[in-house]
Amino acid sequence: MSGMVDKYHELYDRIPVFECKPGCADCCGPVPFGKSEYAKIPEPVLAEGIGCPYIGDGGCSIYEVRPFLCRIYGTVEDLKCPHGCGPEKLFDVSEGKTMLAYYKILMREDR
Ligand code: SF4
Ligand code: SF4
Repeated sequence: MSGMVDKYHELYDRIPVFECKPGCADCCGPVPFGKSEYAKIPEPVLAEGIGCPYIGDGGCSIYEVRPFLCRIYGTVEDLKCPHGCGPEKLFDVSEGKTMLAYYKILMREDR
């Protein structure tokens, strides 16, 4: 299991971190988690409705261990934040697709 966690974290490390609008969760919704990504979350919460169960009053309540899709959003030219937040340099569309393809491979490996 830890091998998979490390692989996810190697992928996370390639994604630039940026500051969001305080308390914002406007791009949050139901997101898929790889099995080992989910294992990092201390206490899974059951969802009510269709939103993400981890949206807290101040934004994401599991920010440090949020999954790949939450990290990549806002960092790719065709996945820009509607509030203009994002890193100085965005991934171009093809780089974004490559990252997503690698993530899908990890998820398949992580069953
Ligand atoms: S990326 Fe943009 S829309 Fe999403 S939480 Fe951050 S500020 Fe809000
Ligand atoms: S895990 Fe956090 S960042 Fe991702 S959708 Fe849920 S609240 Fe938003």
